[in-house]
Amino acid sequence: MQCKVSDRTRHASTVPMELLRGILEERYAVDTGRLTRMTVHAVLPSGPGRDVRTLALHTVSVRQRLAETAQALRRMSEGTYGRCEDCDKAIPLGRLRATPHAARCAPCESRTAFATTERRAS
Ligand SMILES: [Zn+2]
Repeated sequence: MQCKVSDRTRHASTVPMELLRGILEERYAVDTGRLTRMTVHAVLPSGPGRDVRTLALHTVSVRQRLAETAQALRRMSEGTYGRCEDCDKAIPLGRLRATPHAARCAPCESRTAFATTERRAS
């Protein structure tokens, strides 16, 4: 079987880049729509089942995810997608499939998460 992806996507030969890009772009579109709806809701008077605090928390998490998705798409266009930001090793495909916006490999990510938790706790 002839493989049509070659020089353009060097280190990514084992990563179905187009698939992951599709996932990221779809997620970006979905989250943008979600955020727009949330922003609209936020200016409306709160009604039953619409807790302003919960909505604010949701907005923050959607914004966060949008930013991560945008960064992942940028890394794709720069050709650095799939590399860990910390140790510069290739992020395993399994992790990219589960977390397409991952900027770090699992060990580095858990270190970062741990450091963040530590900071929050103190
Ligand atoms: Zn790493």
